[in-house]
Amino acid sequence: MSPATTPASGKDFFKLHPIDFSKAYEKLFTRWGPQGWWPADTQIEIVAGAVLAQATSWKNAARAVANLKSRGLLEDTCDSLHALLELPLPELAEAIRPSGYFRQKSGRLHRLMRFLADNLGSPPWKIPTSQASQWRERLLNLNGLGPETVDSILLYGFDLPCFVVDAYTRRMLLRHGMISDQTSYEEIRFMFEDALPRRSEIYNEYHALIVRLGKEHCRRNACCTDCPILA
Ligand code: SF4
Repeated sequence: MSPATTPASGKDFFKLHPIDFSKAYEKLFTRWGPQGWWPADTQIEIVAGAVLAQATSWKNAARAVANLKSRGLLEDTCDSLHALLELPLPELAEAIRPSGYFRQKSGRLHRLMRFLADNLGSPPWKIPTSQASQWRERLLNLNGLGPETVDSILLYGFDLPCFVVDAYTRRMLLRHGMISDQTSYEEIRFMFEDALPRRSEIYNEYHALIVRLGKEHCRRNACCTDCPILA
């Protein structure tokens, strides 16, 4: 039976077919084209959005982002950053309430912005590609920032080649027998970074395309029929 005719219910079948990352990228991009990530007007909005999107839907995170934007707190200017840093934490928490875990996130957001302000000054910020790994480690040391958030910040906010791994990526690879439940974030990240040219524009599109794949085909119940991976 060929993959194209295998029913979605044949859940173990695809374990026989590891994904070729370069070819999969071509197939996804051919099907859906550029995804326009990250949807934001400023760099600081992307950075804040990455924190606000933790453990919630994008819709909820976007409502929190909109609240901050309406107060003029997400502009790439010295004044805007200063105003964000000066906002009392309870007020910040209230503004980002729609994103959930708003008290923890207000602390994380404040710590991150303080750190960036202290080390990079006012936005727009720039980090040389040669310092991507070093900055990744520094951000991972900030309380409450895990690898997915840090890589999202560096890839989408700073245009640095750090591949983002999320639950959709993990589910796709699990189904194709390429990882186990125990495979770490770093191992998966290296799998992609090893197989692809080290270019942020490719990492940017690839992650966005995997998210789309996870929403349209590789859902909780896989819908393999017409999946671009099988094209
Ligand atoms: S939906 Fe696509 S990516 Fe997911 S298991 Fe099926 S063929 Fe693979």
